[in-house]
Amino acid sequence: MVDAPLFLRVPDPMGSLIAAHDWGRTPLGPISGWPAVLKLSVSTMLRSAVPMTLLWGETGVLIYNSGYAKVCGKRHPAALGQSAFDVWPDYRDFNRSVVERSLAGEALAFDEQELSLNRNGEPEQVWMDLRYSPIADEDGRFCGALAIVLDVTERVLGQRRLQESETRFREMADHAPVMVWVTNPTGHCEYLNLNWYAFTGQSLGEAAGFGWLDPIHPEDRGAAEAAFLAANAAKAPFRIEYRLRRHDGAYRLVIDAAAPRFDPAGTFLGYVGSVIDIEERRESEERLRESEARFQAIANSVDQMIWSTRPDGYHDYFNDRWYSFTGLPRGATDGERWNGVFHPDDQERAARTWRRSLATGDPYHIEYRLRHASGEYRWVLGRAQPVRDQTGAITRWFGTCTDIQDIVDAREVLAKSRAQLEREVEARTEKLMVAERTLRQMQKMDAIGQLAGGIAHDFNNMLAVVLSGLQLVQKRLARGDTNVGAFVEGAMDGAKRASALTQRLLAFARQQPLEPERLDLGHELADLQELLTRTLGSRYQIEIRTEPVWPTLADRSQFENAVLNLAVNARDAMPEGGRIQLRARNAPAGSAPAEGGGAAERDYVLVEVEDRGAGMDEATLARAFEPFFTTKPEGKGTGLGLSQIFGYVRQSGGFVRARSEPGVGTVVSMYFPRDEAVASPPSAAPDRA
Ligand code: ADP
Ligand code: MG
Repeated sequence: MVDAPLFLRVPDPMGSLIAAHDWGRTPLGPISGWPAVLKLSVSTMLRSAVPMTLLWGETGVLIYNSGYAKVCGKRHPAALGQSAFDVWPDYRDFNRSVVERSLAGEALAFDEQELSLNRNGEPEQVWMDLRYSPIADEDGRFCGALAIVLDVTERVLGQRRLQESETRFREMADHAPVMVWVTNPTGHCEYLNLNWYAFTGQSLGEAAGFGWLDPIHPEDRGAAEAAFLAANAAKAPFRIEYRLRRHDGAYRLVIDAAAPRFDPAGTFLGYVGSVIDIEERRESEERLRESEARFQAIANSVDQMIWSTRPDGYHDYFNDRWYSFTGLPRGATDGERWNGVFHPDDQERAARTWRRSLATGDPYHIEYRLRHASGEYRWVLGRAQPVRDQTGAITRWFGTCTDIQDIVDAREVLAKSRAQLEREVEARTEKLMVAERTLRQMQKMDAIGQLAGGIAHDFNNMLAVVLSGLQLVQKRLARGDTNVGAFVEGAMDGAKRASALTQRLLAFARQQPLEPERLDLGHELADLQELLTRTLGSRYQIEIRTEPVWPTLADRSQFENAVLNLAVNARDAMPEGGRIQLRARNAPAGSAPAEGGGAAERDYVLVEVEDRGAGMDEATLARAFEPFFTTKPEGKGTGLGLSQIFGYVRQSGGFVRARSEPGVGTVVSMYFPRDEAVASPPSAAPDRA
């Protein structure tokens, strides 16, 4: 290889390639004959860092540097010294025009010229920035063009990609189901998707900058703006909720969330954010909360314990009643831990039943003991039922526990042997009877004491009369005085009275010898008119009213005695005199009062004695039938009248009643039972004694 001319001695390896080229076969001729302008141009070009080539002469002969050699691909090195028209047949016309215009002195520039270069066997799409500068010699004649060829394919493709991605983003964002927005680092809104405009009804102009804040509810706007600006300053992600006005004026709750964007160098670029209408979600959440609250209220208002599990049987809910029964803290029985509340003897059985229900989906129904807060175990009825979804799959189990300890206790009591209960009743009855006997004995003793006291007192008086009479008789006889008739009479009188008292006592004791006979008490009463008038005196009118009455069996003289006694009592109640009415009539079954209250079941004949006298107060009436009870002065009353009548009527199978009112009067009624025996002829009646 010949030594390269000086102007070709450059670092670019193209220098030596050019030097070695056989230029004699080109229109340029050997290098030695090249004009100075060509040499200078080649030398300048070879020292340039950008791809350059010369298009020399009318055929545009190519002389280029290493940069351009790369652009030529496989066409290099054959392209060196060839006409540009031949090297790039696809661009022959283009190059012709360039050469022509350069030789005319025109500078040309083509930006991002799209070319399809066939340099490696197949066409290649490239973009180039082309600059052509005309070259003139010292005489001002244009002899070629210097071309700078910059491959900008990467840049163009990058821009295209960017544009494409921008378009994609817009399309995506505009058709996103949510509202999307983009801000720049200063917080100004640069983009809002179609959804935003459709939702708010804002126009592009209205939303620009900070206009997008306008449709926010006035009460929320301040907080929303502050939150956004604070996040923007901190370049931090944010998430805020506010009410956003819809085009129809309705406010809807939305979530506005955004993440800051940074470029690869970490520079803050602004935000891409989204706004989601959560009004429906909020409403349904509210409904859910309401229904949850309702469930809680119901679950906690019932007496039963309520619990719920997941489909796998994991306990995740218990109502308040459960916790108050067990006394355990909330959550303490979640999952499997509730087994600890079972009585150790019931645990295995309950767990088995529960596992079977979980496996089969059959309702659960079992009795077991649970530990109560008091530490005692109480019997509980456990029930559970699965809840299923539309496909029939179990989504949950709901169960209740009912405290049945009281029922279990009651069952036990029922199960107690009947004999035992009867024994208990017998024992108690026996005790009661003993108590009653004791009481009756005491009352009897009391009555006997009263009676004995009264009798002793009366007998003493009568004996005093007898004794004093006899003493006087004794004295007189001792003196030889036999005139003792009056004293013997007195003593006799006392003794007789004592005898009468004995009779009365016997009557009271129902042991007087009665001689009952079939009597018509109406007639008997009427027969007493004369005796009563005589006995009571003229100040008293005796009025006897009788109706035809049933026969009775009674002692005649005792009946007379009783009526007389009642009449005397009536007289005593009316010291100034007055009218005494005596009546006899039938009292059929149901009309007479029964002894224990209610109405008597049999027929009676009623004999009554009525006065309009002083009457008795309640206390006196209550004691009037008591033996020896009297309100009359000593010597006048014995207190044995009514008690004797009581005894007599009783002995005759009847009973006595008295009604009285102080200042109004008194009615004493004697009920004698009707003699049910078939009427017999009067001659068959027993003779009077
Ligand atoms: P006595 O006539 O000897 O007092 P009774 O047994 O006949 O005894 O009567 C008891 C008491 O009942 C009388 O003392 C009197 O207080 C009261 N009593 C009885 N009958 C009447 C009557 N018709 N009116 C008012 N009080 C009466
Ligand atoms: Mg009397």
